[in-house]
Amino acid sequence: MNFIILAKEVPDITFINPLSWDHEKGVLKRGKLPSRINPLDIKALAFAKDISSYYPGKSVIAALSMGPEKCINSLYRLSAMGCDRAVLVSDNRLGGADTYATSYILSHSILKIINNFFSGNSEFMIVSGMHSSDGDTAQVPPQLAQALGIPVISNVSGITQNNTPELLSYEQDFCRITPLVKFPCLVTVSDYSAVVYPSFKKMRMAELNKTVEKWDIEILGLKNNITSRLLSRTSVKKIYQKQNDIPRKKIEISSTEELKSIIEKSFLEIKESVQPIEIRKQTEIKSDRYPVCVFAEAENNSLTSLTRQIVSEAGRIADKLESSLTAVICSNRNENILNQLINLGCDRVLNIYPEPDCLYSDILISDAVSKIAEKRNPSVFLFPASPEGRIVASRTAYSLKAGLTADCTALKIVNDNENKKIMVQTRPALGGNITADIVTVNSFLQMATVRAGVFSEFMPLSGREGIIEHIEIKNNFPGIHVRKDYSALLNYLPEKNDIIVSIGAGIKSRKDVEKIIKPFAFSLKLFSGTLPPIAGSRKAVEKGYVERNFQVGQTGKSVSPVIYISIGISGAVQHIAGIKNAGTVISINTDRSAPVFENSDYFIIADYSKIVPEITQLFMKDPDAVYA
Ligand code: FAD
Repeated sequence: MNFIILAKEVPDITFINPLSWDHEKGVLKRGKLPSRINPLDIKALAFAKDISSYYPGKSVIAALSMGPEKCINSLYRLSAMGCDRAVLVSDNRLGGADTYATSYILSHSILKIINNFFSGNSEFMIVSGMHSSDGDTAQVPPQLAQALGIPVISNVSGITQNNTPELLSYEQDFCRITPLVKFPCLVTVSDYSAVVYPSFKKMRMAELNKTVEKWDIEILGLKNNITSRLLSRTSVKKIYQKQNDIPRKKIEISSTEELKSIIEKSFLEIKESVQPIEIRKQTEIKSDRYPVCVFAEAENNSLTSLTRQIVSEAGRIADKLESSLTAVICSNRNENILNQLINLGCDRVLNIYPEPDCLYSDILISDAVSKIAEKRNPSVFLFPASPEGRIVASRTAYSLKAGLTADCTALKIVNDNENKKIMVQTRPALGGNITADIVTVNSFLQMATVRAGVFSEFMPLSGREGIIEHIEIKNNFPGIHVRKDYSALLNYLPEKNDIIVSIGAGIKSRKDVEKIIKPFAFSLKLFSGTLPPIAGSRKAVEKGYVERNFQVGQTGKSVSPVIYISIGISGAVQHIAGIKNAGTVISINTDRSAPVFENSDYFIIADYSKIVPEITQLFMKDPDAVYA
């Protein structure tokens, strides 16, 4: 078994220096930031080394990267970490390539690697991090898989063996188990626990022997008039400096009494606030010609909350474009779910369902979605930024040569220079440090995946009219048997919660979790009515304080509780990414300069082992404790 590791050199965004900004142009001077190999791509290499031990014979591990010449050092480093071969695709004509253009170039590079390094042997696995820490689109791996016609197994964080090796990916409330049976395939890795280190000797050897090959457009055998501008399907129109999704108040508090009253006030204020009711009315559709489409998902006989949010936003966009709204869903003719889509505002629902005994696969579903798009000619197609939604969106966009923007937090319809209505897609990048406005270029179809917790939901209107059509799909593709293990269902961190108590590496021991944190959570139950879950940072997971599916952050869960109480968490960008949509954020930390305070509404500089038992006592003793 051979491996190709996709590795990207990224700017180190842990702490962005104010000097890195060109305030006049509103762009980040990337050259001013130190760079490193995308951390998850190093995890990908660790995974490849582990999985290679399951297959007999010698494997070749090749690293592939695309970027300017200076990235060569990262490839020497990967050689020193155990890659046998390394290729840097570097060509000035490819600067600024979007995900479509990058996937196109990488797919040609991979075909050359198979020929040159693997003697044409197709028993190989492409492995990459699930996303890069700068772009964070998670689009290149599935688009590349689409270009090569191979399946994707995404977000893998563990391996188990059951006759064949099986890959484990943890989702919201279940674990996806995928046996490794089809090759070639592409695997993306999330929080994989093993680590690899470079050896100094190997690093010297790699530099001396110049083991990294440099390839350009000509070496790849592509037409020499190719440029990233010609290939790309999206263009960044404007970049602005970090904007907090919810600006935080950053108020310092100093006593436990004050802390108690803030928890109570924040809880009651948000609970009692009345959300306006919005309904998509039954209107006469002026045109069914260029519909707005949305890819819908359901779990446990109900639409997911993210699906309800994007259907509602797609409805608003359809009204602005005066067009109809079509939902595409893969459900086994579940009338209840299909009617939920009509009631929410869809004018048409296209239910794709597989023939009996047909294996579900990402290739199969995206092929069906692409065919629907070719037939219906939508102007806008929205997908949930869920693990499956991202993959189907990426594959579909690649096969339709359409523009796709990942993880949007705002969508705006504006008139362009030719007075045509276009959709401006806004998304955070560089770990949330910048926000970018992106438009689609070189493609009529504008596609976007949409982040959870951003758009409000329409209220369903029962009895709304709409058309339901069923489309059977046949399996002409290599499928992968995926099992879902719901045993984690009883024990998962829901996205919406009243209160979440979240702990970090500042907690000294598991004993403190039992003796201090759990009683605190219990005392909050007396007042809120439900026992708050105890979540944590990645370091808290690594220390065994909380389970993996209770990790909050970029590679964990995004949460939107009424109150988020962080205890002994420093507030790294990757952690903060998961609490952007939380209501009130309250933090306890001993360090005045902890970044978490910048992202809190209220904070207290204190040792948790002193303050948390005090506040627990206050809630326990409160005579009016049981409010709910
Ligand atoms: P630390 O950074 O060690 O902070 C501990 C804090 O506790 C300090 O601020 C300290 O002042 C405070 N403290 C110490 N003693 C006390 C006391 N007695 N009382 C009160 N406070 C005290 N991290 C995540 O959380 N989620 C993710 O999803 C995630 N994804 C990642 C993805 C990638 C690709 C990478 C590279 C990293 C990711 N990380 C993630 C890790 C992240 O960068 C940080 O390392 C991590 O969040 C730090 O966890 P922490 O705040 O618990 O620990």
